[in-house]
Order: sequence, then structure tokens, then C-alpha cells
Amino acid sequence: MIAFDAVTKRYGDNVRPALDNISLDIQSGEFIVMVGQSGSGKSTLLGMINRLIDPSEGVVWFEGEDVQHLDPVLLRRHIGYVFQHVGLFPHMTLAENIGITPRLLGWDEARIAARTEELLTLVQLPPEQYRDRIPSELSGGQRQRIGVARAIAAKPRVVLMDEPFGALDLRTRDALSRDYRKLHEALQLTTVMITHDVIEAVLLADRIAVLQDGRIAGLGTPHDLVTNP
Ligand code: ADP
Ligand code: ADP
Repeated sequence: MIAFDAVTKRYGDNVRPALDNISLDIQSGEFIVMVGQSGSGKSTLLGMINRLIDPSEGVVWFEGEDVQHLDPVLLRRHIGYVFQHVGLFPHMTLAENIGITPRLLGWDEARIAARTEELLTLVQLPPEQYRDRIPSELSGGQRQRIGVARAIAAKPRVVLMDEPFGALDLRTRDALSRDYRKLHEALQLTTVMITHDVIEAVLLADRIAVLQDGRIAGLGTPHDLVTNP
């Protein structure tokens, strides 16, 4: 579904590339987690999928198309994105926040309303109680649940997550990551997540890619990596 083919990224005239000749296939329906130390290239890899970052060499394929040939604005409407600082619009209700991408895609209002109700239920914030609230009335964990709902609202082809639960306390983080894993399965999502929490990676991933100095130092199921590190 997504393929990195010999991708290298150099920032400016840095001698050491941020990504060094990476090849990686991501399958539809897969939950793949990138782990690695700060500076190992995780965000650069993720950002190439939705064209926040362009490769210096090599090709990133998205459903058979070179992403360089796709309009980044349109591409991002089909890619869900969840990042650490949720970035909900503060003056919009939760329902309005969730409806942003469906509205950009021209869904009719009845369909958006039905989808919003469905998503609020899925992320365990009962619609009758939450749809008209604004983000500042929620806890950090609840806000990130809305972040997830917003990212998957328009049924994206893939969901990218950059340290999505990293700013939360441990218990909240654990609950959200387990719930997200269930959602991933129930909705048959394709998820690419970054974390530097190896335990979280083992808990969530179908496959883990270990990045080190811009290279893939390990790739396999959590079981493979634990038994054969
Ligand atoms: P990670 O997400 O694993 O922390 P990054 O992909 O952010 O790693 O960074 C990989 C390398 O590229 C690091 O050495 C980082 O300093 C460098 N880098 C990232 N973004 C930029 C940028 N915009 N300009 C210059 N160097 C960058
Ligand atoms: P950091 O990794 O430094 O904590 P974040 O992961 O929180 O940063 O955010 C990365 C940046 O991506 C933010 O500045 C955010 O504004 C931007 N961003 C917001 N929406 C999108 C989107 N749909 N696709 C890509 N990037 C986005």
C-alpha cells in the first residue's frame, strides 16, 4: 500500500543523511510502529507519506502512485494524522472538529452528523453529552480521543500517528493505546505510528521497524524482535 524505495533524505548540506537508503513496504490493514532514539529519522519517514517532507533520492509509493505526483492537499485529506499536541480548534465544538475533513471532502451534512455520532461513540465519549462541548472542557486524554476521531472521520486510507499519546500520564496513555488498537482492528485501519516507548510498540504493533541513524536496524513482529533482537 505504501512503499519506500531506496529513499534517502538530506537536510540542507548536512553530511549525514537523516534517512539513508530506506526500503520498506507497508501493507494495507497493518499496524506498523517505528521506534528509535530521538534523531533516528522517524518523523522524517512519517512525513514523507503525506508529503510534509520530500525525499532527496528514491521514491515513496502510495497505492501505486509516486507521492511526488500527487497534490499534497488532496493527499492529506485521505491520510489521517494524529500528533502529540492534539491541535483541536479551540472555538469549535467537538462535533465541528470531527467534521472538518468530511466537510472539506464535500460530504452532506446528514452524513457528517451521523459519522460524528458514530465516532464519538467509538472513542467512548457519548455524543449526547459531548458533541456540543469545546476542547477546553475536556481532559488531555479525552482531547486525544477527539484527535483520533477527527483523524479517522473521513475514512482515511492510512492513519499516521506521531507520538500520539506521549504527552499523557501513563495510565491514560495505556488506556488510549489499547483502545486505539481495538479501533484499528474493528475498522480495519492501516496505521503507521511513531513512539520511543518500546513497550507501547510491542503492545500495539503487528510489525516494528527499529530506526537507528537513518537506517532500519531491525524489522519484524514484536515476537521476532524480542526473541531475536
Ligand atoms: P526522529 O523523529 O527520530 O527524532 P527526525 O526525523 O526528526 O528524527 O530527524 C532525523 C535527523 O534529521 C536528525 O539528525 C535531525 O536533527 C535532522 N533533521 C530533522 N528535521 C530537520 C530539518 N528541518 N532541518 C535540518 N535537519 C533536520
Ligand atoms: P512534535 O513532533 O515536534 O511534537 P507534532 O507531531 O505535535 O510535533 O506536530 C507536527 C506538526 O505537523 C505540527 O506543527 C502540526 O501543526 C503539523 N500538522 C498539523 N496537521 C497536520 C496534517 N494534517 N498533516 C501533517 N501535518 C500536520
